[in-house]
Amino acid sequence: QAKQFGRANYQLYTSDLCQRAEEARSLEAKLRHALKNQGLALHYQPVIDIKSGRLIGVEALVRMAGDDAEDISPATFIPIAESSGLIVELGEWVAIEACRQHKLWRSQGLPPVKIAINVSPLQLRQRAFAERLGHIIGEAGIDPACFEIEVTESALMESVDEAIEILEDIKCLGVRIALDDFGTGHSSLSNLSTLPLDKLKIDQSFVRRIERDQTSRVITNAIISLARTLHLEVVGEGIESNETLRYLDDQACDQAQGFLFSKPLPADAFAHWYRQHAGQSLH
Ligand code: C2E
Ligand code: MG
Ligand code: MG
Ligand code: MG
Repeated sequence: QAKQFGRANYQLYTSDLCQRAEEARSLEAKLRHALKNQGLALHYQPVIDIKSGRLIGVEALVRMAGDDAEDISPATFIPIAESSGLIVELGEWVAIEACRQHKLWRSQGLPPVKIAINVSPLQLRQRAFAERLGHIIGEAGIDPACFEIEVTESALMESVDEAIEILEDIKCLGVRIALDDFGTGHSSLSNLSTLPLDKLKIDQSFVRRIERDQTSRVITNAIISLARTLHLEVVGEGIESNETLRYLDDQACDQAQGFLFSKPLPADAFAHWYRQHAGQSLH
């Protein structure tokens, strides 16, 4: 009996594995198709200076259309892009598209905004990454100081020495570097001070619990004062309420991003949003 039960469990387990492998394969095929057929898009989420309430820039977030009207979440397809190696091609497209859009907005008379893209650790490990990025930004004629890359903390800390070298190359382009999802990875304080960073983005898991959880407040405060000490800008991500914004303002957090201001928007919708809010405080 026990044996039978075990076998049933085993079959359940393998069929679950098979199903997941099948899903991954189908997603990879969709991604491949999307890369070839202009099936990807970037959406843009505003980043706001808390003190002045002014827009500072946008974060570009990749979108892929699913079979129905719903997009497939990047949280689902980015890991597939990474394990299949497609992330290099995808990441290149993201950089080119972000630059193209930035240039287009300028030509449409939109004031210059900073633009941030997310970069996977696998892209960073490509030998020529910095060179390629420099080329893409140069081609588009964008001021590198307006351009920022976001790298997740956990990714960088896997091999710090290697990361320093790569980030130094990127820094030399004049591009800014932000550490994304900060507070969940394993950076030591000494690592942090040796990396050529410009910005820490407080992980959403803390920001979202600020109102109801003392520990999240304590961690948030610690990250903000750490950023101060290291002369880094600090951003609260995932802000959904005025209370959370007010708390971060009281703690002298520099910047804010979240649904309170806007969800990530298609390029045209963002331009519209920006024009509507031009010249006024966003909170
Ligand atoms: P991330 O870089 O930390 O991006 C922030 C995520 O939080 C975005 O999810 C954004 O839509 C969401 N968000 C922002 N404000 C709020 C809020 O107030 N409430 C809630 N609930 N969510 C909020 P998204 O677009 O689904 O992206 C998920 C992750 O996928 C990103 O996390 C990033 O790690 C990755 N990703 C997105 N685009 C790219 C890309 O072009 N390249 C790479 N390598 N990764 C990407
Ligand atoms: Mg990000
Ligand atoms: Mg983040
Ligand atoms: Mg994230």
